[in-house]
Amino acid sequence: MTDTTLTPEVRRKPILKQEIAFAIVHLIPLAAIWTGATFFDWMVCIFLYVFRMFWITGGYHRYFAHKSYKTSRWFQFVIAFMAQTSAQKGALWWAAHHRHHHRHSDTPADPHSMKIYGFWYSHIGWIVGPDFKETDYKVIGDYAKYPELVWLNKHYLVPPVVLAVIVTALGGIVNGGSITMMFTSAGLSTLFIGFFLSTVILYHGTFSINSIMHKFGRQRYKTGDESRNSVWLALLTLGEGWHNNHHYYEVASRQGFFWWEIDITWYMLKALSWMGLIWDLKGVPKHVKYSKDKDHARQLKLEMDEELRKTA
Ligand SMILES: [Zn+2]
Ligand SMILES: [Zn+2]
Repeated sequence: MTDTTLTPEVRRKPILKQEIAFAIVHLIPLAAIWTGATFFDWMVCIFLYVFRMFWITGGYHRYFAHKSYKTSRWFQFVIAFMAQTSAQKGALWWAAHHRHHHRHSDTPADPHSMKIYGFWYSHIGWIVGPDFKETDYKVIGDYAKYPELVWLNKHYLVPPVVLAVIVTALGGIVNGGSITMMFTSAGLSTLFIGFFLSTVILYHGTFSINSIMHKFGRQRYKTGDESRNSVWLALLTLGEGWHNNHHYYEVASRQGFFWWEIDITWYMLKALSWMGLIWDLKGVPKHVKYSKDKDHARQLKLEMDEELRKTA
């Protein structure tokens, strides 16, 4: 790659209103100083982190961005709704930008390349900036043909608001003994810790894949970009830490390619397939798994085909 191809694009400064909104979401959990927090609130926080991380990776990412499995039209809507409870905007917005990331990984056109634009921009800057606000429906035309998904994409705050109300009501019932207590510190503490704190941690879990997973860790495959693998990030993000694997062969439903590469999202997707809710999960072909780069994979494929012909 020559230097000219690495000349950064002009990226505009963050929108102040967006930055303030983002900062407020980060500060809300601190309001628990006044309400206190119960054991139940912390359990909700952990549960909502894990539960929503699954829908981010299994939904936004592996379904909408990469079509790594198939499902019915009604369950596809459920997937989008569940993913959007994480307050990471519409499923079509998320997936369209992610497809863009893969197409231009670690080049100036990449929305969030740490190599080109630095840590803060790749982590948060591109989200609070004005350059990536719109959904490019052409990039995501395969799903933009469903009006219900376009509606949800436009009204992307509906799922997190619905979840926040449910969580607050549950807090009222469990902490306060009655649903009417949801408007007191019984419900509000569940909202601050159960909902908002887990939402903030989810943001940084997801964003760390965009930023540091293109810098730290090991590179098993030559992908031509900076993507890396990290077992720690894979544990925190339910499998997304196998990011170099994923950049190498993005259509697979699994990102841990070997049995020891823990990929909780993959196990959960398998469970959904056993229930008949999703199907046609794409795996990783042997010649891809054991190769070093695309040329090597092609060579391995020829060798394996030859082997098959001989034994047939
Ligand atoms: Zn990436
Ligand atoms: Zn991806």
